[in-house]
Amino acid sequence: MGDCHFATARLTVRLGAIAANYRHFVALCPGVEVAAAVKADAYGLGAAGVTPTLAAAGCSTFFVARLEEGIALRPLRPDARIFLLDGVRQGTETAVIAHRLIPALNSLAEVSLWSAAAASRGETLDCAVHFDTGMNRLGLPAYEQPVLAAQGKHRLRHLNVVLWMSHLACAEDSESPMNALQRDRFRELLAQLPPACASLCASAGALLGREYHFDLVRPGIGLYGGNPSICLPNPFSVVAVLTGKILQVRRVDSGESVGYGATFRATRPTVLATVGLGYADGLMRVIGNKGRGAITGVSAPIVGRVSMDLATLDVTNVPASALQVGADVEFLGDTISLEEFASLAGTASYEVLTSLGHRLPRHYEPAA
Ligand SMILES: *Cc1c(COP(=O)(O)O)cnc(C)c1O
Repeated sequence: MGDCHFATARLTVRLGAIAANYRHFVALCPGVEVAAAVKADAYGLGAAGVTPTLAAAGCSTFFVARLEEGIALRPLRPDARIFLLDGVRQGTETAVIAHRLIPALNSLAEVSLWSAAAASRGETLDCAVHFDTGMNRLGLPAYEQPVLAAQGKHRLRHLNVVLWMSHLACAEDSESPMNALQRDRFRELLAQLPPACASLCASAGALLGREYHFDLVRPGIGLYGGNPSICLPNPFSVVAVLTGKILQVRRVDSGESVGYGATFRATRPTVLATVGLGYADGLMRVIGNKGRGAITGVSAPIVGRVSMDLATLDVTNVPASALQVGADVEFLGDTISLEEFASLAGTASYEVLTSLGHRLPRHYEPAA
């Protein structure tokens, strides 16, 4: 959204930090192509807002989940390679081809479908082939893999495989034995297949080291400032800054309650600030009486329930000079990390980002 300096609540997206995070992956993975996962509207930050920055930093390959996401991205990045993680289904072939999207084929049935689409047009169509090496979610299951290995020449004769891919289930935990197991299964598969570019890693996998990188990594969360690893300090810069403005400040006596359900009761004379940010903006209701905001870096607990448009903070310890109506309160940013917010909300950084409300104006802070 354009001019939103007056906005009560807003999401500031630091484009300079996205570029720096992209470059961090490039430095971590020398000689390896760094693509970007921009599914779910770039994890809620806005694909139209962030893809020009990624492209300027050197990214020319993007991954989306849904066909609609690929169609929306195509005019924004006319020259980019766009992979569709959902693959292709009966009836979607024409749209996939028209928008020059590359499906990740997830089963032998999808290989046949895409191959038939190619044959009926007398063309060779690009594709990725996704192998399931232990996640048991999407991709050719183990029992279909030998068929492709043995009959690949025939089954893929109308197709141009530009990427063999798989996905790690436990990469956030560098100690998990699943990582090496899946990597080795992927290597064994590649040895039986015609040579093509190969990709195993999302953000967390990229942190596991060279033997996981293959030819292309496809990070998402790290680009957007989340910590992909549960073992390491976060090497990525803060991208998403969620703020709301103070709408009202009041004093209450000891014994007064706050908000719906009167779930908080003051035990001392208390200064309260009511802030224009609520669960409709992504400040999840579950962090009522648990989370915090920060005013000029000073922490203030959220008291009472978060409502749709508002949250109330105990600002007794915040210097009065910082408590002006219209002052910004941070709920995510340099003081409050995605990981802190996610842990209080009982979820992951990914869901915090994708839960940011539609109505929040996104302000894209240009790279310096
Ligand atoms: C979402 C996704 C990614 C990006 O994952 P992050 O953990 O956000 O880096 C990469 N590959 C696949 C298959 C995905 O679904």
